[in-house]
Formats: sequence, structure tokens, C-alpha cells
Amino acid sequence: MRPRTIPGSSGHVRPLRLLGDPALTEPCQEVTVFDDELARLVEDMYATMYAAQGVGLAANQIGVPLRVFVYDCPDDEDHRHLGHLVNPRLVEADGPVIRGPEGCLSLPGLEAGTPRHDHAVVTGVTVTGAPVTVTGAGFFARCLQHECDHLDGGLYVDRLTGLRRRRALRAAAKAPWAGTAGAAGR
Ligand SMILES: [Zn+2]
Repeated sequence: MRPRTIPGSSGHVRPLRLLGDPALTEPCQEVTVFDDELARLVEDMYATMYAAQGVGLAANQIGVPLRVFVYDCPDDEDHRHLGHLVNPRLVEADGPVIRGPEGCLSLPGLEAGTPRHDHAVVTGVTVTGAPVTVTGAGFFARCLQHECDHLDGGLYVDRLTGLRRRRALRAAAKAPWAGTAGAAGR
């Protein structure tokens, strides 16, 4: 394969927005223009996700309020799922709800047991506007639900309750990056 076909290889790593940054809590807008700028955004998102060793990244995590996410994520059988979705819609989230470890590039170094459905289907389009349907199970289903939440202005900590939520927010407040949110990327 030619190097230029590797996602993100021509992209630029952009600064990540962290918990507390308003970009993460505003719902993103539908993409209406499918141009080079959108293609560059997706490339930059792959590059940023790989640089941060993440398995998924939503556009608002780099401060772009558009409904786009990228992923390179294993499922529970260690099959790799790689791709991007523009204007994704979570059309199915069902099966048993499983509480499993979940982290986020916007809360670096932290993880919490978060409940998610074991099966998810997301429809959307590619960067060129071609329709796609992505089906996930296990950890990949978790990833799809996590990224869709981002585009609606949600974070996994919003899915936590009680002691788990208090623990997660306390850990975030004590994290080395706490208080830097909002300054990132400027
Ligand atoms: Zn995230």
C-alpha cells in the first residue's frame, strides 16, 4: 500500500480539548459541505487520534463543532474496525447493558466503568457523501455510542451515577491537566 493511503498520514495533529472546554458540551452541527476542507479535517482527526493513542475521536474534541468522528478500534474478538463517519446517527443501541472500562482523550489518563449497550448500529455518510452503515458489538459498540454522545455534547462521565460519578469527577479535578481546559488549542 502506498503511504498516502494510510489514514492520517497526511494529517496534522491538532490540540485536544479537555473536560471543562465548552466545545465538548455544545451539540455539533450537521455537515452540509463535502469539500477538501472536510477531507482535511478527517485526516487531521486520524492523525490526532493516533498521536494520542486513542481508539476514537470526535470533531469537537479538536474544537470543530461538526458531526464527524473517526475510529480505529478493536472489538471483543480483537477484530479491528477502522473508519470515519460524517453526520452519524445511532439507529440501534440494544442488547445487554454492560459496565466496562471506558476512557476518553478529553479526560487523559482516566477510566471509569461505564454502562453501554453491547450492540450498536450507526448510519451516516463518508467524507465524499457515500452512505455507510457501521455495526458494532462489545468494545466497538461502546466506542460508537461514546463518539455519538460526543457529537451531542455528551461525555462518558455524564453516564455515570452516584459514587462512580463523584470518583471520576474528583480524579479529573486532581489530574495534571485539570484547569488547563479552555486554554488548549489556543
Ligand atoms: Zn471521548
